[in-house]
Amino acid sequence: MTEELPIALFCCFECFSHTPLCSQCIFQAHQEVPFHHIQKWTGNFFTKVSLYHLGHTVPGPY
Ligand SMILES: [Zn+2]
Repeated sequence: MTEELPIALFCCFECFSHTPLCSQCIFQAHQEVPFHHIQKWTGNFFTKVSLYHLGHTVPGPY
Protein backbone atom coordinates (compact mmCIF):
# COMPACT_ATOMS: atom_id res chain seq x y z
CA MET A 1 0.00 0.00 0.00
CA THR A 2 1.45 3.31 -1.07
CA GLU A 3 1.20 6.21 1.27
CA GLU A 4 0.14 9.44 -0.38
CA LEU A 5 2.01 12.38 1.04
CA PRO A 6 0.99 15.96 0.45
CA ILE A 7 3.49 18.00 -1.50
CA ALA A 8 3.58 20.91 0.91
CA LEU A 9 4.51 19.42 4.22
CA PHE A 10 7.40 21.56 5.37
CA CYS A 11 6.94 24.62 7.50
CA CYS A 12 9.25 27.18 9.05
CA PHE A 13 7.96 29.01 12.10
CA GLU A 14 10.85 31.43 12.03
CA CYS A 15 9.99 32.89 8.65
CA PHE A 16 7.49 35.69 8.54
CA SER A 17 5.36 33.50 6.34
CA HIS A 18 4.23 30.19 7.78
CA THR A 19 3.04 28.89 4.45
CA PRO A 20 3.72 25.18 4.06
CA LEU A 21 6.14 24.41 1.28
CA CYS A 22 7.43 21.35 -0.48
CA SER A 23 10.89 20.13 0.50
CA GLN A 24 12.47 21.61 -2.60
CA CYS A 25 10.92 25.04 -2.08
CA ILE A 26 11.72 25.27 1.60
CA PHE A 27 15.27 24.17 0.96
CA GLN A 28 15.74 26.85 -1.68
CA ALA A 29 14.05 29.46 0.50
CA HIS A 30 16.63 28.77 3.22
CA GLN A 31 19.84 28.88 1.27
CA GLU A 32 20.49 32.29 2.85
CA VAL A 33 18.96 31.56 6.25
CA PRO A 34 20.27 28.09 7.09
CA PHE A 35 19.92 28.70 10.82
CA HIS A 36 16.15 28.44 10.65
CA HIS A 37 14.53 25.39 12.12
CA ILE A 38 12.40 23.57 9.59
CA GLN A 39 9.48 21.49 10.72
CA LYS A 40 8.03 18.62 8.75
CA TRP A 41 4.37 17.75 9.00
CA THR A 42 4.04 14.02 9.43
CA GLY A 43 0.26 13.94 9.26
CA ASN A 44 -0.23 14.12 13.00
CA PHE A 45 2.45 16.45 14.30
CA PHE A 46 5.43 18.54 13.32
CA THR A 47 8.87 17.10 13.63
CA LYS A 48 12.13 18.96 13.33
CA VAL A 49 14.25 18.35 10.27
CA SER A 50 17.57 19.87 9.30
CA LEU A 51 18.24 21.78 6.11
CA TYR A 52 21.27 19.57 5.61
CA HIS A 53 19.01 16.54 5.58
CA LEU A 54 16.64 18.26 3.15
CA GLY A 55 19.47 19.14 0.83
CA HIS A 56 20.51 15.53 0.63
CA THR A 57 17.07 14.06 0.11
CA VAL A 58 15.68 16.48 -2.46
CA PRO A 59 15.94 15.04 -5.93
CA GLY A 60 16.55 17.70 -8.49
CA PRO A 61 18.42 18.58 -11.65
CA TYR A 62 20.86 20.86 -9.89
ZN1 LIG B 1 12.66 30.04 7.71
